[in-house]
Amino acid sequence: MAILSFLGRASRTYKGYPKLLVLCTLSLSSGGLVAYSESQPDTRAPHVDPNEKEPEKKRVVVLGTGWAGTSLLKDLDASLYDVQVVSPRNYFAFTPLLPSVTCGTVEARSIVEPIRNIAKKRKGEVKIWEAECVKIDAANNKILCRSNIENNLVGNREFFLEYDYLVIGVGAQVNTFNTPGVKENCHFLKEVEDAQKIRRSVIDCFEMAILPGLSEEERRTNLHFIIVGGGPTGVEFAAELHDFLAEDLVKLYPAVKDLVKITVIQSGDHILNTFDERISSFAEKKFRRDGIEVQTGCRVVSVSDKDITMKVKSKEEVCTVPHGLVVWSTGIGTRPVVRDFMEQVGQAKRRVLATDEWLRVKGCENVYAIGDCATIDQRKVMEDILSIFEAADKDNSGTLTVEEFKDVIDDILIRYPQVDHYLKSQRHLREVKDLLKDPQGNDQQEVNVEQFKLALSHVDSQMKSLPATAQVAAQQGAYLSRCFNHRIQSEENPEGPRRFRGSGRHRFRPFQYKHFGQFAPLGGEQAAAELPGDWVSIGHSTQWLWYSVYASKQVSWRTRMLVVSDWTRRFIFGRDSSRI
Ligand code: FAD
Ligand code: MG
Repeated sequence: MAILSFLGRASRTYKGYPKLLVLCTLSLSSGGLVAYSESQPDTRAPHVDPNEKEPEKKRVVVLGTGWAGTSLLKDLDASLYDVQVVSPRNYFAFTPLLPSVTCGTVEARSIVEPIRNIAKKRKGEVKIWEAECVKIDAANNKILCRSNIENNLVGNREFFLEYDYLVIGVGAQVNTFNTPGVKENCHFLKEVEDAQKIRRSVIDCFEMAILPGLSEEERRTNLHFIIVGGGPTGVEFAAELHDFLAEDLVKLYPAVKDLVKITVIQSGDHILNTFDERISSFAEKKFRRDGIEVQTGCRVVSVSDKDITMKVKSKEEVCTVPHGLVVWSTGIGTRPVVRDFMEQVGQAKRRVLATDEWLRVKGCENVYAIGDCATIDQRKVMEDILSIFEAADKDNSGTLTVEEFKDVIDDILIRYPQVDHYLKSQRHLREVKDLLKDPQGNDQQEVNVEQFKLALSHVDSQMKSLPATAQVAAQQGAYLSRCFNHRIQSEENPEGPRRFRGSGRHRFRPFQYKHFGQFAPLGGEQAAAELPGDWVSIGHSTQWLWYSVYASKQVSWRTRMLVVSDWTRRFIFGRDSSRI
């Protein structure tokens, strides 16, 4: 026992080791004993006043612990700033595995990591407040927060936080498009709690359907699962549900196995319409084979607790279908706190909060927005065309030679990524200087401003807004943390492209998104993937690729091990259908 207490003390004393694993198997008379200990968290007294200034340190307040906020936090050098995090949930959730949680393929706790675990691995201290930001006061650089802990605990639930820099990463909320009855009668699949609720409700539907005294029609209604939205989330949930039924529930509820129906309702002409056509048609065929009904071209007009009413676009017909459970997965909308902030900064008419290419909210010097709550308002080349021309025309001759153009092209490509996209999309343009060819395709040694405008007149058509995905959010968080970490160095040595509308260079390169592809698991151990370079891969091997990518993307070794062991458990024992 003396040895044990020594090891315990040692693990607390040597805080320098980020993680001290003491694994000792001691052969005591009572048998083998395994002890596991991690370095203990800091036990200093809690900070009472969050606004008490740490001298010389700028305060960075981060809102949200989702993909964007967590990725920022993971790389941020917290010793340089007074970092404070505000989020109503004290964990990070690996959302791509949420559909797997709805059917028990993966357990809820396997895909979440406490944010304090992540923060304690940082250099420097990070203060975390489990609360919701309810108001951003951009004029006074402060925010109002409210705790939503519901237990009957004492104390004030509201507090103000001041900031020097604010990073908004609050994500988005489900969008019901104001369809009557959706909020009250549909399930959503956005948070961990939603997935857990769906899991219980699916089992409820089965338990209800086998009770004695129900007509066959009633049993069928209880077992009619409807998914509204044929995007990646809706399709993945439908596939998971089908596997759960086919692999596990039919054995447990044989009496009603033939009464089950899954329907996917999609307003567009195809499901997975943001994916390559080959994937979307493969998914439709597979669903047809699996008996999942796909109703395209249908818009849901209302949902009650018993049925769902929709309009079939082609026939302008309205039909009503009874349901046991509806999952609404049709898109995302703006959170109230962001909407209110948008009104303050003159963005009331916009749908999403707009930032510049450095992720700074337009109209606010010290507020950044990343992830699903924001979109980058990429500057058009045409807006700056005269400044670009003047900057490039070094000899002030009023014309631009190929050499002069070459001198600025690197800066143009960094500042306006649409130019690069345009070049890649046009087969006849092999080099950047080919842009200066005349409309007949002949080389021009010099162009005047009108010819220059003509040459670049189509590049802005290649501007695309980034999708609301975890990939984008995580890359934005990582980008911003790098900017914060290099803020001081970049003042003397700016890293960005030259300023065309001013002098000098930008401090940082603008954010640039790198797309690594996207997956669509389709059930039955098959998945589809769209990989960079127009690569499409479909089938069982893609499912294995999906397993390895999603295991490797976990935020910690702990969740990685939990997820892999959940998958193994499912292979061996099937999914757990207990309703807990
Ligand atoms: P979120 O991850 O939603 O995080 C927002 C954070 O802000 C949360 O911590 C929340 O608690 C907090 N917050 C909310 N309100 C406030 C407030 N008022 N004050 C402070 N904090 C607040 N993307 C992919 O790339 N690949 C996938 O396979 C994929 N699958 C998905 C599957 C599902 C079921 C879902 C729902 C999404 C999926 N996505 C996927 C999309 C991805 O989850 C989002 O794009 C990503 O979560 C966006 O990150 P975020 O940080 O902006 O928002
Ligand atoms: Mg010139």
